[in-house]
Amino acid sequence: MSMRKLTRRVMVGSVPVGGGAPVSVQSMTNTPTEDAGATLQQISLLAEAGCDIVRVAVPNYRKDHLLRRALRSLEEIVEGSPIPVVADVHFDHTLALAALEAGVHGLRINPGNIGGPEKVREVAEAAGRRGVPIRVGVNAGSLRRDILERYGHPTAEALVESALEEIGVLESCGFYDIKVSVKASSVPLTIEAYRLLSREVDYPLHVGVSEAGPPWSGTVRSAVGIGTLLAEGIGDTIRVSLAGDPLREVRVGVAILKALEMSRGGVDVVACPTCARTRIDVAGIAEELEERLAGCRAPLRVAVMGCAVNGPGEAREADLGVAGGRSKGLLFRKGEPLGWYPKEELLGVLLAEVEKMEKEYLEKEGL
Ligand code: SF4
Repeated sequence: MSMRKLTRRVMVGSVPVGGGAPVSVQSMTNTPTEDAGATLQQISLLAEAGCDIVRVAVPNYRKDHLLRRALRSLEEIVEGSPIPVVADVHFDHTLALAALEAGVHGLRINPGNIGGPEKVREVAEAAGRRGVPIRVGVNAGSLRRDILERYGHPTAEALVESALEEIGVLESCGFYDIKVSVKASSVPLTIEAYRLLSREVDYPLHVGVSEAGPPWSGTVRSAVGIGTLLAEGIGDTIRVSLAGDPLREVRVGVAILKALEMSRGGVDVVACPTCARTRIDVAGIAEELEERLAGCRAPLRVAVMGCAVNGPGEAREADLGVAGGRSKGLLFRKGEPLGWYPKEELLGVLLAEVEKMEKEYLEKEGL
């Protein structure tokens, strides 16, 4: 792993981004913004799963009453959300101003499509007065035509040039509370663009692969793209983009951080790949543990191993481990055997033990 590049720090509400802060996980709601209840319900599930910052689209409704309803709802969402809220705004600078009025903690705009320098200045001044950062988000799919014509197709250089131009527009307004992203759906292009951008600016980088795709392939593409960059020390906040339920995005984001040992606690479940010696339902127990322990705050490693041949070694190394036997499993806690338990009781015993360990951890840390 490379040293993390030290970027400037911006605050998205109470969450620091950049400047050595832990890498934060973001996601975006897919409920109608005008339905505050449904959106808040989704945000609370995302926060429980480990989402640090949530983005909400502010739709460009042409009908005034719909727009007013969405903005009123945005205000309610900001008030009720347990995590900072970023408004995603395109094409209309008055929406960005209204989102700031609603109290959002961050803005995602594209200065190139918000209506000219005067309008960008107005937004930057309003955001500056409120201490709200702006993310400049460049996407390969929506590069300006002249840049695209110059480079022929979306290249890393084209993405970075576009980002630098947009950053320049904000800087010319005296605004520096900036985060930047340069996403593409191609993983190699995304990696190349962020590497280049990271050499050019010291603003915190929001890293992600755009339109990563359906859950399975999208997870792999995001893990490769985001994981490669983070391992190189690039990236301050991440967003996994998957079609469908944003809860999956957060789980994958958290898992990427865990895999790189960059997470801030939580249970890390490891399991053997299973083979002909497997004596317990390794995959079922491991999946269930991962699902049920997603909100655990203690930094614990739990190992689920299928047999008594290779299992005990790994199970002993973990904070909590199980090695399968013919009809029972041997449990270890911090290397010490806790006893044999019938197969069908293993999941329950592991969950109860994690709960105890979490309680001990929280007491010890005074949390
Ligand atoms: Fe097979 Fe045992 Fe290794 Fe699991 S731990 S893969 S069951 S040998």
